[in-house]
Amino acid sequence: MTETRHMAKKSLGQNFLVDQNYQKKIIAVLKKGHQNEPLLEIGPGQAALTQHVLEFSDSVMLIEKDRSLAKILTERFENEDRVSVICSDFLKCDLKKTLPQGKVLVLGNLPYNVSSQILIECFKHSSQFSRLVFMFQKELADRILADYGNKSFGSLAIWTQIFSKAKKCFDVPPTAFRPRPKVVSTVVEFVLNDELYEDHKSFLDFTRHAFLYRRKKLSTIFKKQLKELSNKSVSDLWQKRAEQLSLQELQTLHNELQS
Ligand code: SAM
Repeated sequence: MTETRHMAKKSLGQNFLVDQNYQKKIIAVLKKGHQNEPLLEIGPGQAALTQHVLEFSDSVMLIEKDRSLAKILTERFENEDRVSVICSDFLKCDLKKTLPQGKVLVLGNLPYNVSSQILIECFKHSSQFSRLVFMFQKELADRILADYGNKSFGSLAIWTQIFSKAKKCFDVPPTAFRPRPKVVSTVVEFVLNDELYEDHKSFLDFTRHAFLYRRKKLSTIFKKQLKELSNKSVSDLWQKRAEQLSLQELQTLHNELQS
């Protein structure tokens, strides 16, 4: 398999990581804390990362949407029992049926156009995963990692904090890819939480709603629900906007609505 055989498809976010030093840096993050879990790679492309993964993993599942790349991967790993190749859109996979038993470690230099959807899908199935090591465009990574008080803080950061402990690993410059993207990328590691905030599904709906109108006071957005609570004492925090509150404060307000 050579790079020249495949024309990169922009529509599938194909920016291949060709710089070996950055490939190895990502693998080092993956390897640290690896507990022999099976590994899933989303969007393996031309196997730039997969080739290193095989140095330490006993079980590797590849999910690649591009048919021609999936065919090349199937041929390349034909005699490798540890590797299975699935040609599919990750967002359409039935993960309960597809993934092996037990917790799975996930790797992905993600296609930029669907990376937040892929992250959310992983959070929705968080009990099936141990860690996620993903590369995003830096601007998206900043939103994922934003803390309250930051202008990028929104529902994506809330999802991240509910489901995981996330940390920035390092940035990767456009020169590390072919074709070169216009922007810098960032590698982020998510260690998934074993225990979730009780009633997190309804809390996620609540925060999505709260951040949809981020310039409005929460008392305005949730006027109807607060009326129903009128004979109970409600927090002063309702007078603020969602972006002015911490995760814990938002949880306090959500608990009041549930009470
Ligand atoms: N892992 C390779 C690398 O680091 O060089 C390729 C990364 S490239 C940024 C993204 C890869 O994801 C491409 O191979 C693309 O075809 C694949 N892809 C795009 N959308 C996908 C989806 N919905 N499900 C699975 N793979 C997808």
